[in-house]
Amino acid sequence: MLPPLPASSTQYAQQLRQGFRWLRFGPALEAEYRNYCNSNEYGRVLWFCAICLLLWGGYSLFDLWRIDGALLDARQRALLTPLHALRLGVTVLIVLTLASAWRRASVRWVQATMIALGVALSCGSAMAVYVYKLLGVPHETAILVAVMMGLFLPFAISLWAQLAMAGLYVASVCILAWAAPLPAVRGEMLRLGVELGLSALVFAFGSYWREHQRREQFLYRGDAHWLAMRDALTGLYNRRMFNHHLALLMAQARREGQPLALLLLDVDYFKTYNDNYGHQQGDAVLQQVAQVVLASIGRPLDLVARVGGEEFAVLLYGGSAVHAQALGQSLVLGMHQRALPHAASPVAQMVTVSVGGAMLALQDEARTLYARADRMLYEAKNGGRDRCCWEETLQA
Ligand code: GH3
Ligand code: MG
Ligand code: MG
Repeated sequence: MLPPLPASSTQYAQQLRQGFRWLRFGPALEAEYRNYCNSNEYGRVLWFCAICLLLWGGYSLFDLWRIDGALLDARQRALLTPLHALRLGVTVLIVLTLASAWRRASVRWVQATMIALGVALSCGSAMAVYVYKLLGVPHETAILVAVMMGLFLPFAISLWAQLAMAGLYVASVCILAWAAPLPAVRGEMLRLGVELGLSALVFAFGSYWREHQRREQFLYRGDAHWLAMRDALTGLYNRRMFNHHLALLMAQARREGQPLALLLLDVDYFKTYNDNYGHQQGDAVLQQVAQVVLASIGRPLDLVARVGGEEFAVLLYGGSAVHAQALGQSLVLGMHQRALPHAASPVAQMVTVSVGGAMLALQDEARTLYARADRMLYEAKNGGRDRCCWEETLQA
């Protein structure tokens, strides 16, 4: 039987192992998760508002027609004004939320309007049913449970906000029961409050597991994505990502008339190092080299990748040839500063690297730029290693 695969050590995998019972990740992952959720929330909010508008508007119009036709006395008619105001208020909130999603307002604003809509819709429905009961006109209380279900829909709002809205909803029904002038209405409202409380429990349970699964999926997806783009030993980008980024940066450099430099770095006499110190120690050296190379870049579009066994590539966007060359030299010196012992190296008593570099030229394809940098690396090796070589034409 095959031994189990070593556990992945990405931040996603760590969070998976740690768990997230309270539906919260560490701060950095939590922010990434929210971004991931929010990026496609507008469409869902839009559809949700459209459905709300259809149901709420439909019910309101139907009730207007129904209640206007009913024979109400003056005391009952006095109740109609707050009912109309309530219907209008909720409709305005639905339209406002819909417009916010349509115009792609900030996520925080959309969330705030969704919470306001949730509170207005739930408390408003409770109030409407209460008024129908006082008016003594026929009404359907099952709609209140549908509204409770709507509060727990899995988007835009966290489970905790949903629970708070559901609590407010049940509380509003209980307050109305307490305020009801007729014992019969009070009893019915209380029964409704209990029904809504129980349905909230069921929906919250479903909502919890849905969010749990969504978070779990996010972590698995992030882990797989990270592993597909990264080198497992050093955590740097891998060859696939390098190729992808190189093509993008070449296109961008041409479009914007910016220089682009490619540096290739290779550890000197690394085979001898492995033979002398063992493969595991060799791995540790590669991690140290990765740190030196990674520390050399700082701009957002620059990239460092491990492109082969002991070969690394650096892409510098927008810097001059002089700057790129100086950076190549600093990589060589950076390894001197680390002074990792390599007793069998014919060059020095420590691990050294050779660097070759080239600037993107007009006629270059990715393949030819790479080949030119590689030729310079070859020259650095032939010239005695532990140095950086740059194309003659660009050194002036
Ligand atoms: P040169 O100075 O000409 O570059 O000589 P070199 O010995 O570094 O080059 P060569 O291509 O002969 O050997 C590269 C060595 O790198 C061979 C291989 O065992 C080692 N290597 C490749 N990938 C890894 C790795 O992931 N871990 C370790 N420890 N060694 C690796
Ligand atoms: Mg090599
Ligand atoms: Mg080598």
